[in-house]
Amino acid sequence: MCGIVGFSSRTKPACAPLVNGLRRLEYRGYDSAGVALESKEGIKVFKKTGKVAELDRLLKESLSDAEQEGFTIGIAHTRWATHGLPTVENAHPHVADGGGLALVHNGIVENYAALRAQLEKKGCKFVSQTDTEVLAHLVAVFDKGDFLSAVSQALKKVEGTYGIATISKRHPGEMIVARKGSPLVIGVSDGATVVASDVSAIVAHTRQVIYLKDGDVARVTPEGVDIYTLDNVPVSRDVQAVEWDAESVEKGGYEHFMLKEIFEQPESLRNTIRGRLDTVNGTAILAGLGLPPRDLASIRRAVIIGCGTSLHAGMAGKYLFEALADLPTSPEQAAEFRYCNPIIGPSDWAIAVSQSGETADTLAAVRESIGKGALVSAICNVVGSTIAREAGRGVYLHAGPEISVASTKAFTSQVTVLAMMALKLGRTRRLSREEGLGLCNEISSLPDLVSEVLKENDAIAAIAAKYAKVDDMFFLGRGILYPAALEGALKMKEISYVHAEGYQAAELKHGPIALLGAKTPVVALLCDIPGKEKTVGNVQECRARKAPVIGIVTRGDEEAAAHCNDAIFLPRTSPFTAPVVSVVAMQLFAYHVARIRGCEIDQPRNLAKSVTVE
Ligand code: GLU
Repeated sequence: MCGIVGFSSRTKPACAPLVNGLRRLEYRGYDSAGVALESKEGIKVFKKTGKVAELDRLLKESLSDAEQEGFTIGIAHTRWATHGLPTVENAHPHVADGGGLALVHNGIVENYAALRAQLEKKGCKFVSQTDTEVLAHLVAVFDKGDFLSAVSQALKKVEGTYGIATISKRHPGEMIVARKGSPLVIGVSDGATVVASDVSAIVAHTRQVIYLKDGDVARVTPEGVDIYTLDNVPVSRDVQAVEWDAESVEKGGYEHFMLKEIFEQPESLRNTIRGRLDTVNGTAILAGLGLPPRDLASIRRAVIIGCGTSLHAGMAGKYLFEALADLPTSPEQAAEFRYCNPIIGPSDWAIAVSQSGETADTLAAVRESIGKGALVSAICNVVGSTIAREAGRGVYLHAGPEISVASTKAFTSQVTVLAMMALKLGRTRRLSREEGLGLCNEISSLPDLVSEVLKENDAIAAIAAKYAKVDDMFFLGRGILYPAALEGALKMKEISYVHAEGYQAAELKHGPIALLGAKTPVVALLCDIPGKEKTVGNVQECRARKAPVIGIVTRGDEEAAAHCNDAIFLPRTSPFTAPVVSVVAMQLFAYHVARIRGCEIDQPRNLAKSVTVE
């Protein structure tokens, strides 16, 4: 999920380009960094938790300038932990073959536990908790003299995603790189070949790059690169010229991190779901929950605790848990939870939701729940974060680092995790295998459904242009779309500074309707799921007060669209996938309104990415 840099030259020193390359990748967010350098004597590895500057200091303390300049080949990594805490042992590069082979990896090896057990039987000694370490040992085990084919054979055993770079004492001058699902780019220049997980770490050396395709494995030498399939068939890939400047490279060509992250959602959702659906038994595999079916079946009540976007995810979780598992569930604002003497005990399940895992109020609620004897689980994105550690069990989002202050991909992954929890819980309580399988299908369709929404970007931008200058907006949703409406309104407030309110569609006429008029557009969630007709009725009430209505409507539902002034069309969803799919449209809508208003989208005023104060 984070960064890789590789450098290979006959004469040019590798150390400085490796560290500088890591610096260029810092914007992606990471928790530790490391470097492996090749010399005639063997491979030297340096690792540090924290910033690249710390790693640089370690290198300077450990090697003289002359020594540093002696290394001309190396690999480097910034880690964003998915498996195992952010510690020095877990930082990359990982080594095998008695330290003779070093490997860096971005991504997730899903079947690492099975592979690790097999390798341990063969006598391999593991020193980390990571999924990655199995890759280093696998390559070493397969190495019978041809480095590239050892890597290919190892990768054939792997389920999951990877971008990797590896060097070995047995194969001086050779670096093998490969990708599947995680990006890897090779820069070719006179005197050095540079490898990185994105071009921002390469442009200082060259603008001539080769983008590896999924399933490619390449032999990188100071002179250039040979690319093969995993079956050892040579392939050729075009050399392309990079035209972006360094800053737009970081944003992947998008104008803002927020837009980049919105567009990453098919991928982040795939990562959230990967390996977690049991399509034989129609349930979810959430090993980190650590709750056997017997415990799950005996829970009497769930409390889902969070703040802001995470609270909205928790509110969607209430609908999912109650509809799928018959479990009474209450979403709780984390700060309030602590001050209202919550009634919670051993038969209750407290689920803390926090992207960063450091939200102070949520952490306090976790401690309160533990103190009262409840079962506590966490849903966090950052591995090893305080909430994840203190809760002791939970599910990581695996959504990758989120840089934009306004959360997008974390929300959709949180709701998806809650849907998988509801499925697992439901299967212990009431759902049949058939029903479970149906839900597995719905959950696994989410990345494609979200891709469909992203195709509406231009249409959404055009609608945003019509409404960008208003001062107030309302967002209406019913049932599971009510939390989605709250999240749509929150995005609008956060980044465009338009005053936006989310309401249950029926609540409007109990007061807020007094505010409606020609200058207060209403975004109405009209996805074709049960309850839609009633929301159409609420839309008519808004129109009767001259409020313009922007409908979020299922494609083909012309009848619902006819009640609206403008319509954003979405693919058909089930009630359980509707909040994720509709929120993506509202993220884009808020983004375009903010862009047109000239707002600081990635760093909105007064907001912080992780709220570590109460
Ligand atoms: N899954 C690996 C780990 O947790 C790689 C993480 C990354 O891509 O940075 O170490």
